[in-house]
Amino acid sequence: MTDLPRSDNRLLRLNVGFLLKEGPGYSREFSFDQDGTFVVEDVVISQLRGVLRLTRTRQGIVIQGTLRTQIAAECVRCLAPFSLPCHIELSDLFVYPAPSETPRVSTPYIVDDGGFIDLRPIIREEGILAVPIRTLCSPDCKGLCPHCGQNLNEGLCQCTEEHIDPRLAPLRALLDEQ
Ligand SMILES: [Zn+2]
Ligand SMILES: [Zn+2]
Repeated sequence: MTDLPRSDNRLLRLNVGFLLKEGPGYSREFSFDQDGTFVVEDVVISQLRGVLRLTRTRQGIVIQGTLRTQIAAECVRCLAPFSLPCHIELSDLFVYPAPSETPRVSTPYIVDDGGFIDLRPIIREEGILAVPIRTLCSPDCKGLCPHCGQNLNEGLCQCTEEHIDPRLAPLRALLDEQ
């Protein structure tokens, strides 16, 4: 990591006040074409492209659409940070008016009193789901040397032992037992 990413999180707040004044069924599209970086707690995404359709319903505002983005991930083999291209699919109801009597946890997605929708919680949730547990910077990542820790994608190290493809290491261990 070089310097900390600058966050443009205000772009993740949508003003939907004008939609609330319309009747059920009225809809509008919001398009995103942003190069900024967005930090939502533990999720760092960059770029935000796509179109969301916001529809007024009796319960609030329904958001549907797909956003293309890049999510910061770490390679499980060489530990290098990299950006993983992801699609974030949204199809959710944001309740309006926000119910005051029920605990907030039961309705995480609301339109606030000022007529704004905060997309951060949903982007964080969907972003986490979009990143697989085992992420590789590239399908043929060579990983780190098990002896000196050199990133073998950047060149061979000085270790005398022959380099074993980490994917073949369990096989090698079997052969050594014989
Ligand atoms: Zn890697
Ligand atoms: Zn080495």
